[in-house]
Amino acid sequence: MSTLEGMGVAPAQTVILGDRFARELAEMAIPWQAEKATDPRLLVLNEPLAVELGLDPEWLRSTEGLQLLVGNLVPEGATPVAQAYAGHQFGGYNARLGDGRALLLGELTDVNGRLRDLHLKGSGRTPFARGGDGLAAVGPMLREYVVSEAMHAMGIPTTRSLAVVATGRSVHRETLLPGAVLARVAASHLRVGSFQFAGSTGDVHLLRRLADHAITRHYPDAATAERPYLALFDGVVGAQASLIAKWMLVGFVHGVMNTDNMTISGETIDFGPCGFMEAFDSATVYSSIDHDSRYAYGNQPTVAEWNLARLAEALLPLFHDDQEQAIALATQSLGGFRRHYTAAWSGGMRAKLGLPDSRTDEVSTPLVKDLLALLENNRVDHTTFYRDLAAFARGNTEPIRGKFLNLPAFDSWAARWLALVPDADLMDRVNPVYVPRNQLVEQALAAASEADLDPMGCLLDAVTRPYVERPDLAAYAAPASDDFGGYQTFCGT
Ligand code: AMP
Ligand code: MG
Repeated sequence: MSTLEGMGVAPAQTVILGDRFARELAEMAIPWQAEKATDPRLLVLNEPLAVELGLDPEWLRSTEGLQLLVGNLVPEGATPVAQAYAGHQFGGYNARLGDGRALLLGELTDVNGRLRDLHLKGSGRTPFARGGDGLAAVGPMLREYVVSEAMHAMGIPTTRSLAVVATGRSVHRETLLPGAVLARVAASHLRVGSFQFAGSTGDVHLLRRLADHAITRHYPDAATAERPYLALFDGVVGAQASLIAKWMLVGFVHGVMNTDNMTISGETIDFGPCGFMEAFDSATVYSSIDHDSRYAYGNQPTVAEWNLARLAEALLPLFHDDQEQAIALATQSLGGFRRHYTAAWSGGMRAKLGLPDSRTDEVSTPLVKDLLALLENNRVDHTTFYRDLAAFARGNTEPIRGKFLNLPAFDSWAARWLALVPDADLMDRVNPVYVPRNQLVEQALAAASEADLDPMGCLLDAVTRPYVERPDLAAYAAPASDDFGGYQTFCGT
């Protein structure tokens, strides 16, 4: 434990950072320091999150606060570390990945008593950097900020973003870009790849300590289960099944579902080339490096299950002394993924369609299946569809009918759906109006790179209150189109 007392004219702040990971799992933690930021400038601060963490937003804005947010001020006694992990990247195994450009500053206890990791991304090279420069550019860090906060606002478990601070460093990509550090908050940064790393050392004691650490932090009930490590695995399977179902329901495409980008907590992590599907299409891919469409929208549940099989492999020595029996137990547990996923997704689809839970699967399953085919064939925007469908239920039929080339097919589907007496208000509580659409994000990032942060502010305003339609934000609700434009004029900030 360590404390930091703010001095001088700025408000004082005590920051207490635990070093539990660094202490309990020293083999997976390299003590390290952030690179010096020459000219730190705050680009965006998440004030509600700061308050939740017990941090004074005013102090975070101060010179000293900014130093903390870029890793140049380490609370006394804290042990920032680069975490080791392995991972399958696009199916290929890499035994040593780790935080190449990130640091775990330590664990904070928030105002609700929850332990949260405070972590920096873009804070300079570490021993895991391999060929990388250890840096991050402003654009991708702001992208992670806005997308993660949008996910949170939609009730989807995710790492959170506390701040993005421009460092004053330049980053060489295709061009020279301004550098930034993202301060990120997570239930933990334990990944499937963390277990692959521990497993691959052959040190069962390390693996057990890692599993015990994960149980304490995320699945405390597993500690008293008959088979604690199998219960841990069951917990992760359930959390990931529920998470992926939520992604699918909002049309989120993660883009890089490598095992090092999949958490044990069940939070979404590492927002790179991700996006929200517009025209419904299972083959939607956003990552330009995903040549085989491995991480396409429609593949995500299968990929998650594959990743969980890699987690099970790593945990096998803890499941049973007899490896045959360990495999049998793991296989049985992994079988729970499809059940969990299908239940979570089907329930979510019923809510999206305003159908009460009492509507049995026999009624809703064929209806949903036919709808998805209809959406795919007519290339209908995934997000606006469900809001327009609620309007349709209320008698405003034209917006949605304008979306379908094959109107008779829609009308006949809609008649079947209306016969089930959908609840339009329920629909509007679960179907977002505003998601961070790629075109909007790109426009906001382009403006930010010209030092204009207003479009980012507008976009954040829209996506962090996603369910209430606001007429002045109409442009933020629309899918990208050729005549899409003038978006910067819609918000007055
Ligand atoms: P990501 O694609 O961000 O999940 O990162 C995959 C791996 O590459 C992780 O081990 C990162 O730490 C590392 N990495 C990504 N970008 C950089 C960079 N610019 N410098 C050093 N390491 C990096
Ligand atoms: Mg990653």
